Amino acid sequence: MATNPDAVIIGAGHNSLACACHLAARGWKVAVYEQAGEPGGAVKTGAYTLPGFRHDWAAMNLSMFAGSAFHTENAAELAKYGLAFAPTANPFASVFPDGRWLGISNDHALTTARVRGFSDADAQTWQQLTDDFPAQAESIFGVLGSAMNLRAVSSLGWKLWRKNGGGGTLDLAGFLMMSPRAWLDETFTSEHVKATLAAWGMHLDFAPDIAGGAVFPYLEAMAGQAFGMVLGQGGANTITNAMVRMIEARGGSVHCDANVTGIKEAAGRAFGIILADGTLVEAEKAVIANVSPAALAKLTGDTSDTKYDQKLRSFQHAPGTMMIHLAMDALPDWSAPELKRFAYVHMAPSMDQMARTYAQAKAGLLPDEPVIVCGQPTVVDPSRAPEGKHVLWLQVRMAPGQIKGDAKGENAATDWESAAEPFANRALGILERYAPGTRAKILGQHIVTPTMLEADNPNLVGGDQVCGSHHLHQHFMNRPARGYADGTTPIRNLYHTGAAVWPGGGTGAGPGTLLAKKLAGN
Ligand SMILES: Cc1cc2nc3c(=O)[nH]c(=O)nc-3n(C[C@H](O)[C@H](O)[C@H](O)COP(=O)(O)OP(=O)(O)OC[C@H]3O[C@@H](n4cnc5c(N)ncnc54)[C@H](O)[C@@H]3O)c2cc1C
Repeated sequence: MATNPDAVIIGAGHNSLACACHLAARGWKVAVYEQAGEPGGAVKTGAYTLPGFRHDWAAMNLSMFAGSAFHTENAAELAKYGLAFAPTANPFASVFPDGRWLGISNDHALTTARVRGFSDADAQTWQQLTDDFPAQAESIFGVLGSAMNLRAVSSLGWKLWRKNGGGGTLDLAGFLMMSPRAWLDETFTSEHVKATLAAWGMHLDFAPDIAGGAVFPYLEAMAGQAFGMVLGQGGANTITNAMVRMIEARGGSVHCDANVTGIKEAAGRAFGIILADGTLVEAEKAVIANVSPAALAKLTGDTSDTKYDQKLRSFQHAPGTMMIHLAMDALPDWSAPELKRFAYVHMAPSMDQMARTYAQAKAGLLPDEPVIVCGQPTVVDPSRAPEGKHVLWLQVRMAPGQIKGDAKGENAATDWESAAEPFANRALGILERYAPGTRAKILGQHIVTPTMLEADNPNLVGGDQVCGSHHLHQHFMNRPARGYADGTTPIRNLYHTGAAVWPGGGTGAGPGTLLAKKLAGN
């Protein structure tokens, strides 16, 4: 007779898969249930435009996964199951309206020389930041990789105190509270250098003036220079495919087209899940939900902790994203030809423009000049397109989940179905300004609106790509709710994972790995 799994996991995002792999490696029998037709959540790849052109549906940059504790521990086994990376020494650049550009490459002398092109003082500062990075990185990654319960935080605080002294620890805490603009204004003089770094805050919802956002521009700049960027060979789904194979090889299972509509509990203890077709799947030790906080509240109903229930229901999401996938006859002819080498080219001309864009999207307006992140994955991995052709991955940041109007006053639509085409045209118009002739090279395109992102994956509420704002009140010990940042819930044997739980969004598999270690005891 088949026995119940030890753990049933709702949703096959990469956090669930990492959690399942770790538990399976510790002898747990795991079963994952995913509502979509394929696993991966925000990490999947397909031919969304034309045959032979492979596009990453959402995440493209896998540096967080490559550098994660989960990958470090499982690298050999994942490689056995097909995981392969495509690294690049030229992670990102920004291009500016005056035709100038700044690129960060994994060649320190070259990058510093580029910074010097904008300011001698900034080049000196860059050198200092580079020299200090190994020590700083140890402390910052120590915080970002730590569990967030009182015990772990006390032990982390003590470790940091011993390493950095009281002053150094308080400086680090102060830095973690800073907004991108506060840190960039304090650190650099050139507006081009500041804007190049500030663009990274816009990958989350850290517009230049949001407290707590400085760490993202800092880390992406320094880590990009130190390590480059990592993409998936053939597509980002190399990681999820390998994890599914690892789970299956260890006796676990991943079930797709299996929407979970309820969590079963008795006497304050979760014991199973209900699928849309009414099937009950019971779990011996744990029910793990990789869903948005509001969705978790719906699956459980009220718990014994009303404050927790209220937090889940009022959990705040970041503005949405629109994706434009392009099959290309050739790469864009950027105003500077060197830009053809970079994995990402940001069109984010100034901190003021980024602040305005964020405010517009938060107010429900289609921004007049959204930030464009132009991913050029075929520069790094030509296997994703027929010979000589390319794909582009355009992220349009930011876009309102619910449209109330248009900041430019051109578009009266308030539904995404009608707004998609004109807003995509606005984004392509911006690209055309920096790389004239790009439109003429487009062979096929697929627009994915915030509404479509959420329809595909309900965790991306309103197209929020990181399942919840990472502003300070929802980060660290507060993600998703104070007292529950370690994935526990008020219901025994029910655990929460995924981007809504500390350490949050991105492909670093942090929430899934920390939870698996907690459950397995190591
Ligand atoms: C457009 C976009 C671009 C991004 N780019 C990058 C990038 O380049 N680099 C990076 O590091 N990060 C990027 N991110 C963020 C990153 O991809 C996500 O934070 C991360 O993949 C989230 O993983 P997860 O495991 O938490 O959940 P998800 O990937 O969101 O998966 C959750 C899964 O649960 C399933 N599910 C939900 N409810 C149910 C239910 N009731 N029953 C069954 N299944 C359910 C969903 O269908 C989904 O498959 C991007 C995200 C988006 C959307």
